[in-house]
Amino acid sequence: MTTSASSSEETVDLFKKYVIPNYGRYNVNLVRGEGSHIWDSEGNRFLDFFPGWGCNLLGHCPPAIVEAVTEQIATLIHVPNTWHIEAQGRWAQLLSERSFGGQAFFCNSGAEANEAAIKLARLHSDEKRYKIITFEGGFHGRTLGATAATAQPKYHEGLGPLVAGFQYAPYGDLETVANLIDEETCAILVEPIQGEGGVRTPPEGFLQGLRNLCDENDMLLMFDEVQTGCGRTGHWFAYQHYGVTPDVMTLAKAICGGVAGGAMLTTAEIAPSLRPGMHAATFGGNPIAARAGIAALETIEREGLLQHAQQLGDLFKKRLTALQEELEIIRDVRVVGVMIGAELSIEGGPLVQKCLDKGLLINCTQGTVIRLLPAMNLTVEQAEEGLDILADVLREAAAG
Ligand SMILES: *Cc1c(COP(=O)(O)O)cnc(C)c1O
Repeated sequence: MTTSASSSEETVDLFKKYVIPNYGRYNVNLVRGEGSHIWDSEGNRFLDFFPGWGCNLLGHCPPAIVEAVTEQIATLIHVPNTWHIEAQGRWAQLLSERSFGGQAFFCNSGAEANEAAIKLARLHSDEKRYKIITFEGGFHGRTLGATAATAQPKYHEGLGPLVAGFQYAPYGDLETVANLIDEETCAILVEPIQGEGGVRTPPEGFLQGLRNLCDENDMLLMFDEVQTGCGRTGHWFAYQHYGVTPDVMTLAKAICGGVAGGAMLTTAEIAPSLRPGMHAATFGGNPIAARAGIAALETIEREGLLQHAQQLGDLFKKRLTALQEELEIIRDVRVVGVMIGAELSIEGGPLVQKCLDKGLLINCTQGTVIRLLPAMNLTVEQAEEGLDILADVLREAAAG
């Protein structure tokens, strides 16, 4: 379906009657996407600097994904994990070869990937060890376990009692982490670059310090690369920027180029701790997700997109840093590949609406951080075009 019979207004009415209102939504009914553009039911076109909330790393409807999924869905839609399918094995191989070796467990989302990691950490250590250290401003998903792992009080309100055993440290604070570790601690779970927390990059030596603490105390170092993973930062995985290898890595969002999917990777030594019968996901690693996952990795390679993401990152950094020199409302600019944050001294929410009015989709997180997660195949012309709009909106906001 490339068009919608209903107007945005009619669709919004349907939602009001029948869809639980747990999301803040724009009053726009989207009907079609292609690359970094998306159209609403009124025919308006938007340039998308936040396609699929970070999931559409190859833009909307990337042809290689569409082709792989279309072929697969007509051949074998779903079989349970009591059977072997080549695509799942091959997908695991491609992920393993691009990361730290080892093996994969497949699931359908980031929260689920982190649940698998939490269970693995507890199963891998002896029985009395169950505590996991996570970080303020982090985000790990919305299941109860992943919510407890997410050290942001606003996500905990009214949900208690939370899953026990999570301890929180300020992001970047090695001393607090060292003090929290006791004989019951089994792992550290951290985003190498915090996404939802405001595109916060790790202070010098922080990840290596965590690695050392894990080695000294026989704990697992687990990186949540749900947002940073699969090419977003200009490397396959963000940890590769910092030369610090985790024991466990979780992936989702962009892993299947816009199709739902998730994975947890760990070394072949640790993997058997997730023993048969202890964990499962009915749709995990299904044929459609597996084919999409393979196609995403192959497309990134074939089209040289890791390098392109780095070049785009340089461009965003250059333009936003120049704006920062011009406008006092920009406090900080943080860019790693196509993971981009601009911290403001004013509320960013109204700017998202102003950009939308001018045909550009962006995001604001933590109230004051403009976050852009554009597709890694965004063209330089599209990047310049969107940056021009964003610059206008920021200038207007600065002028009051
Ligand atoms: C989005 C996100 C999650 C949760 O992923 P879901 O697929 O929504 O469950 C977990 N961790 C990080 C770092 C994320 O950005």
